[in-house]
Amino acid sequence: MQVPFLDLRTQFQSLREELLPEMTAVMEKAAFIGGPALRDFEAAFAAFCGAEHAVGVASGTDALQLALRAAQVEPGAEVITAANTFVATVEAIALAGCKPVLVDMDPETYHLDIGKIEDAISPRTRVIMPVHLYGDPVDMDPILEIARRHELLVIEDAAQAHGATCRGRSCGALGDLAGFSFYPGKNLGAYGDGGAVTTGSAEYATRLRQLGDHGSAKKYHHDFLGTNSRLDALQAVVLATKLRHLPEWNVSRRAVARAYEERLGDIEDLRLPRIREDFEPVFHLYVIRSKRVQEIDAALQAAGIGFGYHYPVPVHLQPAFRELGEPGRFPEAERGAKEILSLPMFAEMSEDQIDYVAGILRAVFER
Ligand SMILES: *Cc1c(COP(=O)(O)O)cnc(C)c1O
Repeated sequence: MQVPFLDLRTQFQSLREELLPEMTAVMEKAAFIGGPALRDFEAAFAAFCGAEHAVGVASGTDALQLALRAAQVEPGAEVITAANTFVATVEAIALAGCKPVLVDMDPETYHLDIGKIEDAISPRTRVIMPVHLYGDPVDMDPILEIARRHELLVIEDAAQAHGATCRGRSCGALGDLAGFSFYPGKNLGAYGDGGAVTTGSAEYATRLRQLGDHGSAKKYHHDFLGTNSRLDALQAVVLATKLRHLPEWNVSRRAVARAYEERLGDIEDLRLPRIREDFEPVFHLYVIRSKRVQEIDAALQAAGIGFGYHYPVPVHLQPAFRELGEPGRFPEAERGAKEILSLPMFAEMSEDQIDYVAGILRAVFER
């Protein structure tokens, strides 16, 4: 047996009949940019998140960058975020002209350590950008409380968390703004790149639309420096169609997580994701942690099982971001990078596939 890390081809087969007429209609109308397809998706996605507004953009990276610019966070301002994240979080902050300030990983949740946020605040801090990493919502209440006390904005990096909830409220509706990615492998993935910003503020939403359309509210009239960052109509119909299935897919992902837990929960030196009360994760990734990760790596490879590291090199150890900290500066993130591995996780995963992966893992710990 072979088990892929994720399986987008099987998903496409289940959507084919529903999706192709929608895509054909866009091409027949030749309405590729903007128009009703985009507006319908934006409205549906905003409603899904429980946010007032959603604005489609070209990628998750742009969503975060443009969220900072829409909120008029001035260049040079400091933005606090997680040392353990995908590089794009930090890249977006730098691209907006701001200074990323990292907070080490909490070894329990793998999120930024909330207890260390206040130590990272300076007179130049304007924003906290928590990352709902792996599809597991950050505990937002203490972050919102810190933000209120220090008059900071909160911009969620929700790129991995479509549909995840924290105390009954959806990621994307918890802070002032949120950035989502529709990269194909995300829980809600386009057939190409895409992203969206959600916000409760009409003012931010209006500025976002303008930022992504060359700073223009009226064709050929440009009020400020913008860029070209749009979600096109073909991606909008793909996403609108998939959004209808997303709740059931997220339920299936949680069922896969439970099945792993049942099969692997008793193994010592194998830490599985923990679900906190009042939090509903969507398992963008299913990460395990162990000191024996190299043996697990070899066993999975030999068995034809797809897996990944998220992320093998912490951001501050990347050549691109050396200025963010010397080796040893964020010890929990550095340790995590060596011990955290992601198992196959997708909604269509079969019982046989789960059994197979779990069996290979158990064998590692039984030798
Ligand atoms: C995917 C991702 C992004 C960036 O999204 P793109 O659409 O690839 O630009 C940002 N942050 C996190 C945590 C991500 O996983």
